[in-house]
Parts: sequence; structure tokens; C-alpha cells
Amino acid sequence: MIRIRITEYLDIELERERWCCNRCGADLGSAREPWKKGALIRERDPREIHLPIGPSKEFNFSFDPDWMRIVEFYCPKCAVMIDNEYLPPGHPLTWDIQLDVDALKAKHGVTSAPKRRARRPR
Ligand SMILES: [Zn+2]
Repeated sequence: MIRIRITEYLDIELERERWCCNRCGADLGSAREPWKKGALIRERDPREIHLPIGPSKEFNFSFDPDWMRIVEFYCPKCAVMIDNEYLPPGHPLTWDIQLDVDALKAKHGVTSAPKRRARRPR
């Protein structure tokens, strides 16, 4: 099994073409799709992290939660925070790491698993 480290918390298993947690090995989905589909996702009010400063509701060095959310991504097995990003409310998941899986497999000498032959009808 060849595991390639992609980020601090993300690996891929080349033979199986799967994202996995670097810490616990949990499967996070197909390496040909966004790893975020396999993560636990938490949306946070940005004012919890960037505390407003001063009395003004509008000018306070924080973010307006109607315009910005902090989205956190966790491993569903060990709960390590894999990543986070700042997005407008309701924004679809971003696909931030799109790998050329075939090129990686070729680079590491991994051949695709042989496809099963279809059964002959009797
Ligand atoms: Zn994990």
C-alpha cells in the first residue's frame, strides 16, 4: 500500500484511490473527488473567533455573519481539524485539492487494479 502525504492531515492511498486521514487512517472518500465530502463539517459564526472590538455593530474588526462564515472540516473518526475556510453563508463546498491521480500512480509505479471480466451468460 502506497500512501502519499498531500497536506499535514491528508494522505491518499494510491492503489485504492482514496483520501485518508494522516492521523488515524480514516477513509475520506474517492481521491478523484473533493476530500471534504468525507469530512465532518461545522459552520461557525466568525464573531466566535474574531471577537468584535468596540461598541460599533458595523465597524468592529470582526466579520458580519450575514456575509461570512468559518467552515471547519474534521476527520469523522479522530476529530482532528483538517482544514478551515472563510466562505459566504450557503456557499457550496470548494474543491481546493484536485489531484492528477493517474499521473501520481504512474510516477509511483502503481498500476490500476485489473477490471473484473464480465461473466458470460449461460
Ligand atoms: Zn482521523
